[in-house]
Amino acid sequence: MTLRLYNTLTRQKEVFVPIDPSNVRMYVCGPTVYDFAHIGNARPAIVFDVLYRLLRHTYGADHVTYVRNITDVDDKINARALRDYPGMPLNEAIRHVTEKTYDQYQKDVTALGCLPPTVQPRATEHIKGMVEMIRTLVGRGHAYEAGGEVLFDVSSMKDYGALSGRKLEDQMAGARVAVDAHKKNPGDFVLWKQSSPEEPGWESPWGRGRPGWHIECSVMSKAHLGEVFDIHGGGLDLIFPHHENEIAQSRCAHGTSVMANYWMHNGFLQVEGQKMSKSLGNFYSIHELMGTDAFGGRPWSGDVLRTAMLMSHYRQPIDFTVPRLREAEAKLSKYREIALGAVGGGDSFNRIENALLDDLNTPLAFTLADSIYNDALDGKNWAIAELAKFLNLTGLADATSQNEAILAQRDLDFSLANDDLVEAKLSERLAARKAKDWKKSDEIRDQLAAMGVSIKDVKDPASGELKTEWEVKR
Ligand code: AMP
Ligand code: ZN
Repeated sequence: MTLRLYNTLTRQKEVFVPIDPSNVRMYVCGPTVYDFAHIGNARPAIVFDVLYRLLRHTYGADHVTYVRNITDVDDKINARALRDYPGMPLNEAIRHVTEKTYDQYQKDVTALGCLPPTVQPRATEHIKGMVEMIRTLVGRGHAYEAGGEVLFDVSSMKDYGALSGRKLEDQMAGARVAVDAHKKNPGDFVLWKQSSPEEPGWESPWGRGRPGWHIECSVMSKAHLGEVFDIHGGGLDLIFPHHENEIAQSRCAHGTSVMANYWMHNGFLQVEGQKMSKSLGNFYSIHELMGTDAFGGRPWSGDVLRTAMLMSHYRQPIDFTVPRLREAEAKLSKYREIALGAVGGGDSFNRIENALLDDLNTPLAFTLADSIYNDALDGKNWAIAELAKFLNLTGLADATSQNEAILAQRDLDFSLANDDLVEAKLSERLAARKAKDWKKSDEIRDQLAAMGVSIKDVKDPASGELKTEWEVKR
């Protein structure tokens, strides 16, 4: 059986034919690092991880390149930095926000069993490429400078709107007068905007400024995957305007007829029947679900969250509820019990593999796993090994189980929130030691230990000065 994928571009399921089977290339839009990832953000990370695993399984682990970017330039990041670090120079505050959020994201998705992508480029590493691409677009008549911005001229592209099915004329007709006066067309979008002296900015032919969001992905995908690649993914909400505009930029800059051959979009997740929002009080970050009692009065481990996600087909909406998590947990623990320590193999795993090859039919894979489980209960040895393979291919074997999740959470809560506190305690302790106040010094050591921090005094070989190294104990 060959891999078939639903392509948003053609609105049908198609046989997947890679451009180069020795290097299958996939790009997925990653997080904007200004706040903890919520459980909805976990969905694309998990769904495209399953696809990544399936591609590696089919083409060989060394023959797949998966790029998931990190958006670390964005006005939301600036706003968060100003709010959380008042008085700190903005660049430094931004670095705090992005590093903290990035670390958290890595830990979250690892606990959810996601393999690290081949490359995780950051937007700030690619500003030069963005300036280059914008320059090309201006040179080719697809972009213009106006009102302190460089804008993409949507009317310069004949088939703009093909991915989302939005016709340019409809957009024009629907547009009200509230169009920015400097735009030629209401749909024109920002490629570059000028920065005030306080805002982050880079030199460019259009003054010191910063890139728009869409250009970031066009440039990062080009840098790591080339002008045309195989698969581009993200959540449904990204089809318009983000992916539409990525396509416009990349195709117009490179003169190609496509940017990626297959466009895939995961459906949305809602919580207990409602859109997640802070004001409704049903907004949950991944780390909150794993490390606190916020949802259903208890923490949920990464493998349970992953199972709950994959029980639905990736294109369907998911209603995230406590009963769904309980069902996921029960399923997982029964498979686990049986599959642990399995050896050998049979061929019913092929059916699971085929289900996944059919546009990632994970709900069918679970149904098949349930029937294999029944065979295993009947004492069929092969079934045990088949279940183990299922857990591996879907990444469930790699996701964190309960205890690990809580420990990892403590580690991460601690390292995120309290770096400054630890440093403060350590200098207090150093002062106590200098004053030969051993009692106080030991007290501080104990306080730190209670917080899960272990410390070690070492002498700097060069200066001979005493310093203290610390780490969060598992
Ligand atoms: P953002 O940081 O908002 O750009 O989102 C990162 C990724 O998460 C994008 O691929 C979004 O489409 C996806 N996403 C955001 N909210 C949800 C949700 N409620 N359900 C599923 N995917 C989502
Ligand atoms: Zn993107």
